[in-house]
Amino acid sequence: MGTFKEVRTQRSRSPVSQKTSSENLPVISDFPDLRKHNNCMASALTPAIYAKLRDRVTPNNWTLDQCIQTGVDNPGHPFIKTVGCVAGDEESYEVFADLFDPVIKDRHNGYNPKTMKHPTDLDASKVTNGMFDENYVLSSRVRTGRSIRGLSLPPACSRAERREVERVAVTALAGLKGDLAGRYYSLGDMTEKEQQQLIDDHFLFDKPVSPLLTCAFMARDWPDARGIWHNNEKTFLIWINEEDHTRVISMEKGGNMKRVFERFCRGLQQVEQLIQERGWEFMWNEHLGYVLTCPSNLGTGLRAGVHVRLPKLSKDPRFSKILDNLRLQKRGTGGVDTAATGDTFDISNLDRLGKSEVELVQLVVDGVNYLVECEKRLERGQDIKIPAPLAQFRK
Ligand code: ADP
Ligand code: MG
Repeated sequence: MGTFKEVRTQRSRSPVSQKTSSENLPVISDFPDLRKHNNCMASALTPAIYAKLRDRVTPNNWTLDQCIQTGVDNPGHPFIKTVGCVAGDEESYEVFADLFDPVIKDRHNGYNPKTMKHPTDLDASKVTNGMFDENYVLSSRVRTGRSIRGLSLPPACSRAERREVERVAVTALAGLKGDLAGRYYSLGDMTEKEQQQLIDDHFLFDKPVSPLLTCAFMARDWPDARGIWHNNEKTFLIWINEEDHTRVISMEKGGNMKRVFERFCRGLQQVEQLIQERGWEFMWNEHLGYVLTCPSNLGTGLRAGVHVRLPKLSKDPRFSKILDNLRLQKRGTGGVDTAATGDTFDISNLDRLGKSEVELVQLVVDGVNYLVECEKRLERGQDIKIPAPLAQFRK
C-alpha cells in the first residue's frame, strides 16, 4: 500500500460531494447516514474505516466516497440484497481493502480475500447432468465479465478510456472464427426499435434506468462507446461498456446448460487469447480472481442461470429458504431490476468467488434439478424437503 502514499495529497472530491469549506471540518463529519440501509457496504463501513480511508486515492484519483456513493443513495433494492459499493479501477480493491474485504466476505459466503486463493476451471466436460427438463426450463445462460488492465472501470473511466475499451475489444473479437464469428453493433448506430427488440429478446442490457447504475456514475455519456457484439446465431454475445468493460455471454433457448457452458468456456478462452495477442490483459489476481466493477462479481464473474417455470414451488412458503440453502438467487425474467411476473423466474448462482466456474455451474445444475424435482412432487401432491445449507467457507 506504500506505493499509493505519495499520491494521497492529490485527492479528488466526489462529483456530488463537499464544498471547499468542509476541508476545515473533521473528516468524520462527512460520514454518511446509513441508519436505514440494507446493503453490504452499510454493514461494513464503520466511522473508523471511513476516517482512515476518506482521504486516500488510487493512482487514478478515485476516492472512497466515489466507491460508496451508489450504496449511500440506494439504501436497499426491491428484489435483491445489494453490495452498495463499486470499484473505479483495479487498485480500488487494494487501496480501500479495509472496506472491500469485509464486503466481499459478507457477499461471498465467508470468503476471506486476505488468506484465500480463488480457483479457475474452464473445463466444461466435467459438468454432469447438465441437461434440464425442458417442460420447466425455458432458456439457459452463462455470463461473466472481464476488465482490461490499465483502463479505469465504468464508474471512473474517461470518454477516451471507454472508447479505448471498445476499440480493443471490437478489434480482438473480429478474430473469432467458425460458429463464434459475428459482428459488433454499436448502440449509437442502432435505431430505437432495433435496440428495444434486442432488450425484449433478452440479448441486450437494459437502458441505464437502474439507480444502482446511475448513482455509480456508470450511465455517463450514454450511449457513447456502448454496444453488443454477437455471433450470427445470437448464442455468443459480448456486451461492451455496460457495468463492466466487457460481459461475455453464452445462451440459448431450452435446457442444455452443458452445451451453453461448453460454448462459454471455448469462446471466453478465445477472447482472452485474442486480447492477449494484441498486448492487453485482463485484470486478475490470485485472491480476487477476475477483477470487476461490482464486488459481487469478483472471482469467476460467473452467473449461470435459467428461466424456469415453477408455478407451484414459487407459491410454497419454503421456496425462499430452499433457494438460500442451495446458494441460488431469484430474479425476474426481465433482469435484475424487474419483478418476477407469473410463474417463471431467473434462477442463478448467488456466489461467484472462491469456487471455480465448473463448481458454480454444477451447483446451478444440481440446484435447478432439485427445484424441478420439487415442482413435480408438488404436482403429484407429495411433500418436499428443505435441503441442508451448502457449506460456507471457513471464516
Ligand atoms: P446480468 O447478470 O447478465 O447483468 P441481468 O439480470 O441484468 O443479468 O439481465 C440481463 C438480461 O439477460 C435480461 O434481459 C435478462 O432477461 C437476460 N437473461 C438473464 N438470464 C437469462 C436466461 N437464463 N435466459 C434468457 N435470458 C436471460
Ligand atoms: Mg445486469
